[in-house]
Amino acid sequence: MFKKFFTAELKCSSCDRPLKSGEEIFVHMTLPDEKKMPVGVLDKVLSKYSETVYCKMCYQR
Ligand SMILES: [Zn+2]
Repeated sequence: MFKKFFTAELKCSSCDRPLKSGEEIFVHMTLPDEKKMPVGVLDKVLSKYSETVYCKMCYQR
């Protein structure tokens, strides 16, 4: 099971704004090992595994 050290809410690493469904996001992450491939709700997986997540505005800046 996932530990609860990450927030369920996915936030932009730059402006700290919560990212919502339907928004374009830009994620920088390392693809985990195939055997440890994360499975779950995408925003939770991203908030745990991604190094940085940007909203469209911050990414284009
Ligand atoms: Zn942002």
